[in-house]
Amino acid sequence: MNFDRILIRYGEISTKGKNRNKFINQLKRNILDSLTGLSPVRIDAGRDRMHVLIDNTAEVDQILTRIEPIFGIQSFSPVVKTTKDLDMMKSEAVALVSSLVRGETTFKVSARRADKSFPLDTNELNQEMGSHVLRNVEGLLVEMKKPEIELVVEVREEGVYLSAQRIQGAGGMPIGTGNKASLMLSGGLDSPVAGFQMLKRGVEIEAIHFHSPPFTSDQSKEKVMKLASQLASYSGMVKLHIVPFTAIQQAIGQQVPENYTMTSTRRMMLRIADMIREKTDSLAIVTGESLGQVASQTLESMQAINAVTATPILRPLIAMDKTEIIDIAKNIKTHDISILPFEDCCTIFTPAAPKTKPKLEKVLFYESFVDFEAMILDAAANIEVHNITPHTLDLDEKEAFSELL
Ligand code: ATP
Ligand code: MG
Repeated sequence: MNFDRILIRYGEISTKGKNRNKFINQLKRNILDSLTGLSPVRIDAGRDRMHVLIDNTAEVDQILTRIEPIFGIQSFSPVVKTTKDLDMMKSEAVALVSSLVRGETTFKVSARRADKSFPLDTNELNQEMGSHVLRNVEGLLVEMKKPEIELVVEVREEGVYLSAQRIQGAGGMPIGTGNKASLMLSGGLDSPVAGFQMLKRGVEIEAIHFHSPPFTSDQSKEKVMKLASQLASYSGMVKLHIVPFTAIQQAIGQQVPENYTMTSTRRMMLRIADMIREKTDSLAIVTGESLGQVASQTLESMQAINAVTATPILRPLIAMDKTEIIDIAKNIKTHDISILPFEDCCTIFTPAAPKTKPKLEKVLFYESFVDFEAMILDAAANIEVHNITPHTLDLDEKEAFSELL
């Protein structure tokens, strides 16, 4: 089919009052960015929907694939534009519907007439177009309620638009409309999902990862880069800050009683994350915590850990079950990376019996014997920063990656 445009329906963003223009312009920019490398397109944006106008119709399938993961889109449809000549409309409709029919398929026509000067009204259009398509395409059964193919015929001043597919979009809000947050990204299952949930609400993310060489390997770092790269497939680019954490973890191991090491470790991570957040102008910290999952994820623990900062800590997975998180991880293709068996700095130093109800006074007392402030500044001065794109780790870019390590 010679689709020459894609109709994009916004969904939720169209309810945003006077911010609407900001949302629409950001969505437009995000769509144009996602099409880099393809032939130029034009975007015609209205209040409730936009059209991507395509000159190189051979690229339609690629464009559809790239539009699918973009947040802020409720649904989209490839569209053919034709003239207001009834014979022309009919033959284009037959070509369009035939390209989609597979065996017996239920069908109906939904005509809309915005151009009231057009000689046929909506009912007549449904009749004319429907009976012509039924006569000329095999396998169609009329079904008014939930047909598999709904041929939409829109007659407007400038021409007639035909479409027969409505593809579900990624939902959410356009990335860039919700400012920026810092994601604490481990190599586990949860934090990449938390990052995805924030991107979906329009928030840009920068990722922060703590690693403890030689206890954690280059492969565990590569795993985190792969996760960041997978998140970047939704946002274009993710900046990843890798923080050397060995010295702090060792100091905690030596000075803090074993059942409090987890609490202290998390507090130090959060202090450093908050410094990075401030430097990078982001407004919140995001974690993959889910209530009750492990010792550090009780309300008591969160209170003792959270006490190091007044910055909002967002925990999009807090009330989710592990099975729900795993389902999302599979959908967004981070699951198979997360389950690769490389060590994380926290699992290595995990005590046998971490405190599930740590007391803030106690942890403050234990920490008072070490000059953590100096160690934190030292770690912060030795951060590696990588700009990770969806292709950073492609096989043909292996060389580029080995330079990064
Ligand atoms: P995840 O699956 O995200 O690792 P988890 O269930 O294993 O989470 P924890 O290991 O207790 O839980 O970590 C809780 C949160 O702390 C993580 O979701 C992540 O946001 C942050 N975190 C843990 N380890 C690291 C790390 N090495 N670097 C950055 N953030 C981390
Ligand atoms: Mg973990």
